[in-house]
Amino acid sequence: MSGNPLQMTIRRPGNAARSPEGVASVPFWVEMLLEGAADGENTAMRATLEPGTVTNWHTHPRGQLLYALSGAGRAQREGGPVEQIRPGDAVWFAPNEKHWHGAVDDTPFSYISIQATEAGRVVDWLEPVEVLA
Ligand code: MN
Repeated sequence: MSGNPLQMTIRRPGNAARSPEGVASVPFWVEMLLEGAADGENTAMRATLEPGTVTNWHTHPRGQLLYALSGAGRAQREGGPVEQIRPGDAVWFAPNEKHWHGAVDDTPFSYISIQATEAGRVVDWLEPVEVLA
């Protein structure tokens, strides 16, 4: 990672890449918006998930803000209910709070997420989600 730009920068759409294997039920599209490298620097991305795609359980060392753009999503923190996420909703996951997020079964879901870097990481991936309430 190279860190965030040192001056005003416009990043246009057009850099979509597939998420790595093994972090969601199927890979999803990721467009990087900010690629922080130093501790506390923000990383941001736009993610687009096909219907039914959900991430694995995971944590973010400094938390994550998820802002829903379009479609219909769902999210759950460990020990909590599955919550429906609609466009315009802003969801905060606390540092190291185990959770997942994804699309509902019949609608794609896209969101922007912002997560700060710690020791070069913004996420720690865990096991797949096995039961959807
Ligand atoms: Mn997350």
